[in-house]
Amino acid sequence: MDLTRRALSALKKIYGKERLKTSLEDRVCYAYDARNMTCTPDAVVFPTSAEDISQTLALAHASGFPVVPRGSGTGTTGGSVAVDGGVILVTTLMNRILEIDTDNFTAEVEPGVITGDFHRAVEAKGLFYPPDPSSAGVSTLGGNVAECAGGPRAVKYGVTRDYVLGVEAVLPTGEIIRTGVRTAKGVVGYDLTRLLVGSEGTLAVVTRILLKLLPLPAATATLKVSFRSMEEAAEAVTRIIASGTLPRCVEYMDEASIVCAQSIADLDLPEGCRSILLIEVDGSSSEVLTSLATVTGIVTEAGAMAVEEARNDDEAKRLWTVRKKVSPALYLFGPDKINEDIVVPRSAIPQMVKKIEALKKEYGLPMVSFGHAGDGNIHFNVMIDKKDPVQRLRADAVIDEIFDHTLALGGTLSGEHGVGITKRDYIGKEIGEKELELMRGIKKLFDPKGILNPSKIF
Ligand SMILES: Cc1cc2nc3c(=O)[nH]c(=O)nc-3n(C[C@H](O)[C@H](O)[C@H](O)COP(=O)(O)OP(=O)(O)OC[C@H]3O[C@@H](n4cnc5c(N)ncnc54)[C@H](O)[C@@H]3O)c2cc1C
Repeated sequence: MDLTRRALSALKKIYGKERLKTSLEDRVCYAYDARNMTCTPDAVVFPTSAEDISQTLALAHASGFPVVPRGSGTGTTGGSVAVDGGVILVTTLMNRILEIDTDNFTAEVEPGVITGDFHRAVEAKGLFYPPDPSSAGVSTLGGNVAECAGGPRAVKYGVTRDYVLGVEAVLPTGEIIRTGVRTAKGVVGYDLTRLLVGSEGTLAVVTRILLKLLPLPAATATLKVSFRSMEEAAEAVTRIIASGTLPRCVEYMDEASIVCAQSIADLDLPEGCRSILLIEVDGSSSEVLTSLATVTGIVTEAGAMAVEEARNDDEAKRLWTVRKKVSPALYLFGPDKINEDIVVPRSAIPQMVKKIEALKKEYGLPMVSFGHAGDGNIHFNVMIDKKDPVQRLRADAVIDEIFDHTLALGGTLSGEHGVGITKRDYIGKEIGEKELELMRGIKKLFDPKGILNPSKIF
């Protein structure tokens, strides 16, 4: 849709020339996210306050144009793409850390704060914010809240929703609301905070976030464990979790991910290694030593070829950098990859790994899997050439089978990337008709005219 001249001039009054972009060159820069799909918006605005956003949404509600919130655009399901045109509302200028309260272990931030910057700021004060999506160097906390981001440390510490105490947000009608509590407990009324976390920017634009913090663990240690097969690595993960030892990260890479990772940096793996686990433990120094001994014993018994502990922080950091770059590096091998982030119960990981190996043989398409094995969250990629309709059809059949198998194992179609546009057609596989009707009703109540991030989720 095209913005009317009147709507554009009203936007100019709110944002001036500097913070309203309408040239094609500017608009194409905000036409995509990490899913590799393109829809050019009619305008891009850069608010600096909740009031700017309130005026924008009130105008959109009155005029009927779509508004799509956007942080850094690292989402992988098309969530911040303007599929119906309209205005992209970029939060990156709202990037102040307003408060870090060391007495109450909370922090208040604006939505455009970069996740990694926030990690460093709280750690400098001896505090810890566990959610750490692999995109933390780029993603915003607002985007993390909207997607309920997870990351490697979720296995021990949970996901973004476990740390959001409350938010300030602007409704699609322009009204500003505040949800949640500053206290450790609070049960007055429905939990609107939880409703907004993970709502993918379809119910409200989050303008302030109150976050819970933890004390920074005294010690950490990272292990790189090599296996001859993916099946052995999966079995080792199940045994570690069943042992009662809870590492803070248990990440895996299959053979194809290792080939990708090796294109970034030499991982120095033994000959014949076809899968690796990166395991990180934390706690007091003595807890870390005990956990290291337990985990080393389990992986050795499960058939590990080599177990190596990072000798210092730099070495650990290098290992994590390589792991976090696997996803972007995949684009070098297949720019049209289809990336899903299914989750299965932890004990079902070996069954899912077997299924993936069988699908590789059956369909003959390159497939890569890696991810957060510790919580059963598998990043599954099918590498295709989108221009080839036969490959596209076969990839769709693979995704259908993977989704059906995930649900049959008691899993879910997405652990952290959300529905966006890409999983819209599959949501009915997991969510019942009555539940979907309730969700559509909630959307209608928040956004009667359907102007906020339309065409997403449903
Ligand atoms: C290489 C790579 C690695 C990744 N690793 C992980 C991972 O380990 N774990 C994980 O969970 N995700 C991961 N992601 C996905 C992505 O980084 C996360 O979903 C992240 O939270 C998105 O943040 P963003 O600022 O880029 O949001 P965007 O992509 O800009 O937006 C994402 C969604 O949030 C909405 N939104 C943004 N800001 C607001 C706001 N202030 N109010 C309301 N809605 C808003 C948008 O409309 C959109 O629907 C990865 C992505 C990449 C590219």
